[in-house]
Amino acid sequence: MIILRVALDVPLPKLFDYRSEDATRADIGYRVLVPFGKRRLVGVIWDIATKSKVADSRLRPVEKILRDVAPLPREWLALVEFCSGYYHGPLGEVVAAALPPRLRAAKPVPIPPRDYVLTPAGGDALAGTPPRQRRSRALLSRLAQGRASESELVAQATGGRNLLRRGIEAGWIAPIEPERPEPRFVHVHELTSEQRQAIGALRVGLEKFRVSLLFGVTGSGKTEIYLQLIADILARRKQVLILVPEIALTPALEAAFSDRFPGACIVTQTSAMAELQRVRGWLLAHSGRADIVLGTRLSVFTPLPRLGLVVVDEEQDASFKQREGVRYSARDLAITRAQIAGAPVVLCSATPSLESFQHATSSKYGLVSLTRRAIDRAELPAIRLIDTRVHPPQEGIVPPLLEALAARLARGEQSLVFINRRGYAPALACPACGWVKGCSRCSASMVVHLAGQRLRCHHCGLTEGIPRACPECGNPDLQAFGRGTQRVEITLAEKFPHARILRVDSDAARARSGLEDLLERATRADILVGTQILAKGHHFERLTLAGVLNADSGLFSSDYRASERAFAQLQQVAGRAGRSNLPGEVLIQTRYPDHPLYRSLVRHDYPGFAGSLLAERREAGFPPFVFEAALRAESTDELHAQRFLRSAIDESPRRSASVRLAGVERAQVLVQSRSRPRLQAFLAEWSDALYRTPSRGVRWHLDVDPIEF
Ligand code: ADP
Ligand code: ZN
Ligand code: ZN
Repeated sequence: MIILRVALDVPLPKLFDYRSEDATRADIGYRVLVPFGKRRLVGVIWDIATKSKVADSRLRPVEKILRDVAPLPREWLALVEFCSGYYHGPLGEVVAAALPPRLRAAKPVPIPPRDYVLTPAGGDALAGTPPRQRRSRALLSRLAQGRASESELVAQATGGRNLLRRGIEAGWIAPIEPERPEPRFVHVHELTSEQRQAIGALRVGLEKFRVSLLFGVTGSGKTEIYLQLIADILARRKQVLILVPEIALTPALEAAFSDRFPGACIVTQTSAMAELQRVRGWLLAHSGRADIVLGTRLSVFTPLPRLGLVVVDEEQDASFKQREGVRYSARDLAITRAQIAGAPVVLCSATPSLESFQHATSSKYGLVSLTRRAIDRAELPAIRLIDTRVHPPQEGIVPPLLEALAARLARGEQSLVFINRRGYAPALACPACGWVKGCSRCSASMVVHLAGQRLRCHHCGLTEGIPRACPECGNPDLQAFGRGTQRVEITLAEKFPHARILRVDSDAARARSGLEDLLERATRADILVGTQILAKGHHFERLTLAGVLNADSGLFSSDYRASERAFAQLQQVAGRAGRSNLPGEVLIQTRYPDHPLYRSLVRHDYPGFAGSLLAERREAGFPPFVFEAALRAESTDELHAQRFLRSAIDESPRRSASVRLAGVERAQVLVQSRSRPRLQAFLAEWSDALYRTPSRGVRWHLDVDPIEF
């Protein structure tokens, strides 16, 4: 008997066995439709065996092997298997996360458009077709003149699609791969000497696996460097995978790429795409036709048979870490991916993650640095710290910032006011008794939003109306405390009634027709008020001033990664100012102008800052010197979650002294070890035990290399 071992999207860490009449090892990697309970599921054939642990009588036959899409290649299976093993998630769940939704459904798959030619039999048929079969003749005569695309043929006659299908069935018409033009590269800049050196260094050993960190200040022309590398790789007829953090950046990047690589087949992959569009691009990549795949974290799983280079832009970005299901890091998987393919990988950043920076400075990765901006006259912006104790804010904004904004308005330049908090105010409270409105579902404090006068929980999404009075003491004068983007927008509109002010945050993007449209409008505003979605990668010609309002919130967090993130974010905001030929200025309002983070920031000294953080982390035993995993549990009843975690600790393998288990804290258990292999061995054993631990009413997950607590 032939047994197919199938990966299915079911929360159990195993493969599922099915019977088949005629499968062979060549079927490994094909999608397959199988019955599962009362449902039918699409899975992937992982292995073929002759025996199963399941009794013969209980083995069900597969319904159908789906051979419309070529089997997933060995390298893809290896990557998915690595991901499942390293992050301790069921293989089937990784498969589900890795495939476009359309390929997980039992629906036909759109075959990429192809060209058609007339076969010799078709030539004979044309000669024998009587003139009154006008439509057939039109189609065949067109093909007699040479190859034609599907759309052209369909347009030849009414019912063209059917005629084409019948022609193919009769063997008169045959599909062929469309011709692919040689991709070209358009040079636009004379490279700076720093850029030339960087490219020279990155070009060494492009044929094999190697990790390089391209570390350059904002505006130093990192994009230009990797475009040049991509050109090298395309010239060798290989494929390139580029991971970017933000969905909103992909359309702009795709357009830029098309301009620079005419003739190249460029495909994007993001979760926001329509199902059909996504699968079409995926199929182009899988068949080897796409030259460049550009996408967010999920695109790390796009099959690329000719993969020759992987680029991860803004490699420190937290969005590369998946936050639900199997919690993989796309940045780290990109490295494994490149290793499997024997291709180089380039990580780009102005503020690399401490992990990558540590590897680069300890020579595990190649380090390529750029210290100057690429455009001649563009200097790095001057960063000034405004002490709020010396310059008390007026409605949240210090007078020197107001003056600087006025000066920009007078000169017709653009300003950005950055505040990393959406909504009107982050809290609604009663000044009489101190009551603060908390979310009834998750206990985070609720944010006041002007739209519809609602309270919204940014944690779990719950919304409510604004209460008329304090539920504790009856005081009708509830007050909104703190500031969000909406409130800052209103304040600025009062101070500068003639300025064009535009708020750019995810609420505004949703209200209008998306972020892309909003960013288009943003180029025309005088003052932009925005959150971090404005800080990433956008290039505003006239922007010369960036003011930062709540920078201090990143300084004193219980999360040891907060300052790393705060520095990266502030540097990104600063990087928006003065990118062209106008000098830029950054004003940060703070109560703590002597804080070491600000001291380094003012000097644009990321290496200095990273060095001191790394020393602290080494001392305190934090990553990257220690490896971590978190077990988290959620339940509507806190007690159930606690009980599950305590039994999980009881069930944990105790043998290894090199793995440390912290106690239960905020519904999670943290595991640490100085040895990654030992931590992995521990987790493998532990996760087996966890699946056997009673967990009624509790949802739990393991997060390996967690980045948020
Ligand atoms: P980064 O990714 O390092 O922040 P970019 O690659 O976006 O920097 O480049 C910043 C700006 O400098 C862009 O407008 C880019 O077109 C321009 N630029 C890059 N290289 C050069 C160069 N050699 N000469 C002139 N302008 C350049
Ligand atoms: Zn009260
Ligand atoms: Zn909530």
